[in-house]
Amino acid sequence: MTAFPATLGHEFSGVVVEAGEDVINKRTGRKYEAGEAVCSEEMIWCAQCKPCADGFPNHCERLQELGFSIDGAYSKYVKVDARYVWSLEGLRDLYGDEKMFELGSLVEPSSVAFNAVIERGGGIRAGENVVILGGGPIGAAACAVLKRSGASAVILSEPSQSRRDMALTMGATHAIDPTEVSAAEAVLDITNGVGARIILEATGLPSIVWPDVERIIWEGKALNTTVVLVARADDRIP
Ligand SMILES: [Zn+2]
Repeated sequence: MTAFPATLGHEFSGVVVEAGEDVINKRTGRKYEAGEAVCSEEMIWCAQCKPCADGFPNHCERLQELGFSIDGAYSKYVKVDARYVWSLEGLRDLYGDEKMFELGSLVEPSSVAFNAVIERGGGIRAGENVVILGGGPIGAAACAVLKRSGASAVILSEPSQSRRDMALTMGATHAIDPTEVSAAEAVLDITNGVGARIILEATGLPSIVWPDVERIIWEGKALNTTVVLVARADDRIP
């Protein structure tokens, strides 16, 4: 995953300073013009291996990662192949110059959350409940994505007060501290025993949260619960 020393910085936005002759801007279908506001994927996928061909570039067998295994964006310039670059110009009129770049730097973690709960997790039907374990950038973004997908209860389990507070502004309907209360009991209580359609594991501590996940599944009335793992962890789900 990492190959330090490498310059950090994998969630970023900026403007195109220079582009290669044959490089196409996906927004316009034409050559990039200097000054185009863009963000970039952090995963440098090869486009040739089986996972890449199957549409899972995040599982690329030759994956490199900006800010982890190759130099990232904590620098004045960063060089990225055009296929990883996406225009932010559609946000300029809506949010203005400064906010556009802030939002651009959030595209990467938000995309991880979207891919997890919608693409891989299959999304939800309006009115279903979801549980997010871990309120870091991915967990917080997942709260926002799922609330806007029509979730009824969006329950976040996160020990940090400031992260709980932020998630509540983004779409979480409930935020509990798992060091104070049982996450499983809280979920079953809040949902009147229904449980959840999707449980997102975004803590990186799967073996610690797993007993709660299991209880929500077994004791909840929901017939199908999808558990999506997004955090990288050395230990495995039991
Ligand atoms: Zn690949």
